[in-house]
Order: sequence, then structure tokens, then C-alpha cells
Amino acid sequence: MPELPEVETIVRDVTPKLVGRRIRTARLAKSDVLRRVSRRRLLETLTGNTVVAARRRAKHAVFLLASGHRLVGQPRMTGSLIVYDRPLTPDEARYAVLTCTLSRGGRFVYRDIRRLGTVWLLDERGWERYTARLGPEPLEPGFTADTLATALAGTRVAVKKAIMDQRRLAGVGNIYANEALFDARIDPSRPAHRLAPDEVRALHGAIVDVLRRALAASGTTVRDYRTGTGEPGNFQLELKVYDRGGEPCVHCGRRLVTTHAIDLRQTTLCAFCQR
Ligand SMILES: [Zn+2]
Repeated sequence: MPELPEVETIVRDVTPKLVGRRIRTARLAKSDVLRRVSRRRLLETLTGNTVVAARRRAKHAVFLLASGHRLVGQPRMTGSLIVYDRPLTPDEARYAVLTCTLSRGGRFVYRDIRRLGTVWLLDERGWERYTARLGPEPLEPGFTADTLATALAGTRVAVKKAIMDQRRLAGVGNIYANEALFDARIDPSRPAHRLAPDEVRALHGAIVDVLRRALAASGTTVRDYRTGTGEPGNFQLELKVYDRGGEPCVHCGRRLVTTHAIDLRQTTLCAFCQR
């Protein structure tokens, strides 16, 4: 969390207010979110630089700077990336970790209540090396059932764990893995390499469909996720299994079961509909 739809929403929201702007000042309140960069190098690189593009890759928001560097944010559970047109309220400022003031006004803020997220700064080569190790993007046209079949072949781990593995498939985390496996009617604990071709096709369709619907709803807010304008998402209203343990299955009415048997993560399923 946040996963593909949430990070894509953030990137789309901040792009018009951020791309083309010069960073006038940069301030870092806490250094413990930094990876692959020192506080000093981050602030020196950001100050006076210009944001030339904003993209998403997997669960990362990637800001390309005129210097060729990538500022990479992964908000995780309690972080958000927001561009404000106004000064921050005391409550917003309290959890602001990185604050950049922008040319033509505006403040680009990475806010993180528990600082579980990370901020990286990579040069072009460092970024290319990192992104090459990530799996395919499920909302790109090249992502087919065959692509998914290749990603799942040769691993005995539970199919749910396999589709959440960012080296096999980019952008899917616990929420959308649970939802896609329910929609595809597949038991999440099945070994990935044992899925039949028609099951892989169903899972491919379910992954693409749930990510598209979640993106159209600006993502899922179960805790602290906010869009790039500070609003909650809406897809939590459409969840069929995630966070619904004990509630009735929308297909058969039987009680949904929650387990922690796969990688200690919360898995909720209908033991009758998912085989
Ligand atoms: Zn059911």
C-alpha cells in the first residue's frame, strides 16, 4: 500500500502542478526515509533543479529532474505525495518529511506519519539498473495472459505471493492480489506453476480489470492513502474480499475467511467460490 492505482493517481494529480517547475528550496525534516542518498546530496541536487516529468513504475512515483536524476518516492502505508497551492496547515506541516517550494508558487510535500515510506535519489544508470529488475507493468498493452504465464512458470510459491512479487509483476500488492484472485475464482494458496492455462487467462483478465476499476475510483483508502490533491480514494467501497473477513461472499453468501498462511500477509477468500 499504496499499490499501482494509488501511485498512478498521485502521479496524475501532481503532474500539472509540478512538471516544468523549478525547485526553489528543499527542506528535509527527517533523514530516516532516505535510501541511496545522503541528506546533503539530496538537498543539493534538488535545489535549483527542474522537474521535467512524473511517472509511475511499479509502486514508485518517479520524478525526472533536468539534471538526469530520478527522485523516487514509495509512500507505503502512511505516506503521501501532495502538491499544495497554499501554505500547509499545522497538522499537515507536522508530518511533512520533504518540502520543496516551487517556482510560480506551490509546495511539493512528501508527508509520512510513521515514516514507513522511502525517498531515493538515483542517477540515470542507477535507475535503469533498478527498473530492469522489475516485472512487467500490468496496465501496459504488452501485458498479455502469456506474459503472466511466463511470470508464474517455474515457481512453486503460492500464486498470491507470486503476483505480489515485484520482480514477476509490477504494482500489485495485497489489496489487488486478494481482489483479483477472488474475481478469477482461484484459491490464493495454489502453487503458481500449477495453474491451468484457462486459470492464468482468468487471472490475467481479473488483474487488469481490478486495477483499471481501482484507478477509475482514484484508488483505495483504508488508512492514510491520499490522492495527489489530498483527497481519499473511493475503491474501498467496491472491495469484495480485502478487509471483509467474516462478511458474506458477494457471489454465494457464505462467510469470507481470513488467514495469514501466505507470507504472513492477510489473505481473505471464499473457500467455496475459490478453488
Ligand atoms: Zn463465495
